[in-house]
Amino acid sequence: MNIQEFKDFACASIDYIADYCENIRNFPVLPSVAPGYLSRALPKCAPEKGEHWNHIMEDLDRNIIPGLTHWHSPYFHAFFPTGQSYPAIIGELFMAGIGAVATKWDSSPAVVELEVIVMDWLAKILGLPEEFLNCSEGPGGGLIQNAASESTLVGILSASHKKIQQFRIENPLMDEWEIRGKLVAYTSKESNSSVEKAGLIASVKMRLLPTDENGSLRGSVLEEAIRSDKINGLVPFCVVASLGTTGVCSMDNIAELGKICESEKMWLHIDAAYAGTALSCPEYRHLINGIEHVDSFNFNPHKWMLTNGDCSALWFRNTTYVELAFKTKAALSVPQFQPELEHRQIPDVRRFRALKLWFVIRIYGVEGIQQHVRRHIALANYMEELVSGDSRFSVVVSNLGVVCFRLLGDESVTQLILERIAMKKCIYIMPYYYKKQLLFRFVVCSRFSTRADIQKSWDEIVNATNEVLITIAN
Ligand code: PLP
Repeated sequence: MNIQEFKDFACASIDYIADYCENIRNFPVLPSVAPGYLSRALPKCAPEKGEHWNHIMEDLDRNIIPGLTHWHSPYFHAFFPTGQSYPAIIGELFMAGIGAVATKWDSSPAVVELEVIVMDWLAKILGLPEEFLNCSEGPGGGLIQNAASESTLVGILSASHKKIQQFRIENPLMDEWEIRGKLVAYTSKESNSSVEKAGLIASVKMRLLPTDENGSLRGSVLEEAIRSDKINGLVPFCVVASLGTTGVCSMDNIAELGKICESEKMWLHIDAAYAGTALSCPEYRHLINGIEHVDSFNFNPHKWMLTNGDCSALWFRNTTYVELAFKTKAALSVPQFQPELEHRQIPDVRRFRALKLWFVIRIYGVEGIQQHVRRHIALANYMEELVSGDSRFSVVVSNLGVVCFRLLGDESVTQLILERIAMKKCIYIMPYYYKKQLLFRFVVCSRFSTRADIQKSWDEIVNATNEVLITIAN
């Protein structure tokens, strides 16, 4: 491909993406393809000779787009939002176009320095305490990771390293591997599966504790678990608390958990993958009451903050432990720049992810990000009103853009309605079992969503309900 062809392909691609976004409502949110459809449609081997980009675009239309779930459709209400916006798309383009990555600062100073700056901007946008900032006097700081799953793992590995060090001072006869076998971490049953997975990868026990009636992990439950594990000779070292669980977006009680972590010398990691973006609005800052006890804090701009994946922000109150855990002997040369981000992550190199975040923050401004959050929450409130206006349904939980509701009466009917909605493919919502009840879990995900879209999604649910009830009645 020569430079002119590159320009033509790029212009056509931007037009394509803009049209895709503009017309996203015209696509059924879920595809109608059978498993293996793509291997039947595409050649078995790579082309011998290079092809014209036109042919690839044709194949995109013919074979790829029909097999997609349209995650940015206003009728997509599953999982959580996945970040996307025009500035982030352009940011991704520049990331790829410049193609710079970094290990140490001298391998690409701007890649490292922009990340350090943007992470401080972001911490200030969320209202995190000064200690977490790269520019603070102390040992705190933040960086971008690939995913919340990876951030939790990095938090747990840092925490276990810290605990082993502490424990060996108090028990000098025990070796590291003996202590490792006794480490136990805690999270709630409502936390994301990535937390349990991080425990598996880190080879530590992970207790999944019950939550209260609001889906919140409380101090008394943690205290009891620690007491019984200590009696059994285990060494509690970490709590992973959720600020916005994946199911119903419930909040663990950081203040209660934090006090216990402090007195037990345990690490407190916060997984705010989705809900963290809400902290950009001062009216939600109370959610981080207790932040003074937190050791590491993570949220994903690639969820609700309009930034294409991957982009997961992780801050430490004290980066000493992650560096002790991750720094290899080979890395002991004198650094030209602080912080040395490469010792606070699992991969060797880092992509220039700060660039797209920088674009997003500058184009939207803090006000634009706040507006986006408030608009989504207002749309969720509208959905709550619609559900509450139909006496057959009852809203069970509504938190920060996530509305969970149930059909009164026999649960098997809910199952049939969900199946019917899935079959029609006009909207994408998910079932969720919460406190032994089967719920409709509805999330405002798309940045394109309007009140009319929410009304249309609700109408789909009502129609499916009517159809199922008529079928049952006959
Ligand atoms: N934590 C929470 C609360 C989540 O909801 C999710 C995903 O939805 C994750 C962690 C995992 O995020 P990631 O895909 O960035 O690892």
